[in-house]
Order: sequence, then structure tokens, then C-alpha cells
Amino acid sequence: MARVRVPGGQLTAAAFRTIATGAAELGDGTIELTSRANLQVRGLADGVELGTRLASAGLLPSATHERVRNVLASPLTGRDGAGFADVRPLVEALDEALCARPRLAGLSGRFLFAVDDGRGDVAWLGADIAAVLTSENTAAVLLDGEDAGLRSTVDGAPALMLACAETFLTLREHEWRVAELADGPRRLAAHLAGPPGAPRRGGAEDDGQAAVDRREGTRQGVGLVDQGAGLVSLVAGAPLGWLDRRQAAALTATGAPLVITPWRRLVVADLPADRVEEVGERLRGTGLLLDPGDPLARVTACTGRPGCAKALADVRADAAPVPGTTLPVHWSGCARRCGRPRGAVVDVVATGHGYSVTEGDR
Ligand code: SF4
Repeated sequence: MARVRVPGGQLTAAAFRTIATGAAELGDGTIELTSRANLQVRGLADGVELGTRLASAGLLPSATHERVRNVLASPLTGRDGAGFADVRPLVEALDEALCARPRLAGLSGRFLFAVDDGRGDVAWLGADIAAVLTSENTAAVLLDGEDAGLRSTVDGAPALMLACAETFLTLREHEWRVAELADGPRRLAAHLAGPPGAPRRGGAEDDGQAAVDRREGTRQGVGLVDQGAGLVSLVAGAPLGWLDRRQAAALTATGAPLVITPWRRLVVADLPADRVEEVGERLRGTGLLLDPGDPLARVTACTGRPGCAKALADVRADAAPVPGTTLPVHWSGCARRCGRPRGAVVDVVATGHGYSVTEGDR
């Protein structure tokens, strides 16, 4: 299996073609969408060749920092008119600056950055360091989802986020995440008091915490999103969060840029409105989920048997909607619950004697 990190979930049509072709020719054709908006190519026979192809497509910009390029961003930023500004340039600047600082290669692969355009859709997804726009020109930088008062200009946000990450490396002993550091947000903020270009907290309207508290209702569902100017985005659900060979080929054939969402869906972006019907029919024909009312679009699953040695069941064969709930449903082959979406979820967990079904929020 190879993980392809996609900062902000944003992929050009050409980049996705490289991944899909690589998965079909060098793997078993399956591509998994992850809750960090990355992709995993499964069943690989030749990982070296895939690496070469990914590198020539610009998808492996730093051998030293590859593990730490984990950046979530509001998937529809700059396209649907919501949020204070388009944060795609911010994500690019953050990724470039991250790769340019040798020390940051020492972060754990679990460390997570997020950039939220102010709509509050990714600020609460468990990032260690998240920038949340509080206006067109200002951002709050949250630490483990807490607003400790750090502020910057929008352009200054990547530098402040990386200063936080470097401070974390200075303060930590064996901890991997900000959440594991005792009193982490307060200690990091105190250490950083008054960094250049980082004005302290403003008035009550300037509240980055509000974006975290928004939480539920911010997951982007499947269906059509009007971008204006005659363009439309199609948000498609991948059954159980995985694409098969046909689905990947159909997405490639759209020639459209794609965005992977942290809810393991795909945005087929920038489609001229007069192409939507035809593209929608083709994608639907491969089993991709486009109907907002389809309960399958809310169901995800981990790898399970036979792919994972810890699995107690073949969850992908068993997974199905759970009647009587409108919450996301996540099937797991053991109590680790890999790939579980954040927030309120129905957890279906293999026990070795069947499944336990519980509703929880974490
Ligand atoms: S939740 Fe358990 S069974 Fe599923 S992928 Fe993770 S470790 Fe494996």
C-alpha cells in the first residue's frame, strides 16, 4: 500500500490521472480515500515505479518531509462563495514552507495541520495546529482545537503555524501530538507570546473558537454545489470510502480537478453547468453515490479482513447502512476504529462474535 499525501485535498486532473493509472497498472486498481483527505493505493506490485511516477507528477516534493505533509483544508474553499477567502494559496504556502524547514521533518506522521476558510468545516477535525480565518484579512491559530489567543494576518498564518510546530518540538519530550503535551495549547501560546506579525487576540467578534464549536452540520454532503459563473461542483460519495478501477477511470475521464474531503468523498470541481447531467450519469453508472438521500453515502469502513491482520471480520463485505439514524456510520474490524470520522458517529465494531453498535462523539 502507498499513501499519497494531498495537502488540502486539492488535485489537478493530471495528478489524479497519474495516481489512477498507477493504481490500475501497478496495484489492484483500488484507491482508498482517507479521513485526512489523502489517498492510499492498494495491492501494489511495484511501489518503486509508483514513487517515480508520483515524483514526476510533483506529488512527492520532499523525500525528507513526506510523512509530515498532513494538511486539511475547507474542501469547497474559493469555489462556493462561503468562507472569508480562498485558502488554497495558504495551503500551498504552508506546504512549501513546511518542506523548507529541516527541523520540522522531526514531527510525527500523525501531526496534523488544518486551514479553515472561516466556515468551520475543518477547524474541529482534530488538527494539532489549525488556522481559521476570522475575516478576509485575519486568522486565529488554534492549538489542539483551543483558541489560546494567537492571531495573524492571513498571509502571516503559515509562518505562525510553523512557529507553533517548532515550539512544540522544543517543548515536547516524547509526545507526538499537541493533545499529549501537558497543558499544551497554553504553554505553546505563552512560549510564542508576541511573535513578529502575530497580533494578540482582538474583540469578541474575533473568535476562532466559534469555528470549532460549529462542528455538526459542516460535513459536506453529496450532490450538486453551484459555484456561480456557470460552473458547478459535483460531490460524489465513494462506496465505503474506496474507489475501484472503473470509478477511478470515470473520474479521470471527467478531466476536472478533484478535491478529496475529510468525509471520504470527492468533489468533481469546475464543471460547466451544461456538462453536469452527462458527467453525473457516467459517475452514477460506475456506482459512485450522488444522491443526497442515499444512506450508503454516509457509510464508511476500515480495511478489515483480509487486508488487516488485526481485523476480527470482513467489515467491507458486511458494511451496510444502519436503519433509524441520519448520522455517519463507520464499520471497524477492531476497537482501534481506523478511519472513523470525527464527531457524532454510529460505530459498528467487530467483536469476534458479531458486531457492537454504539453511538458516540469524539
Ligand atoms: S480498525 Fe482494526 S481491523 Fe480496521 S484497519 Fe484498523 S487495526 Fe485493522
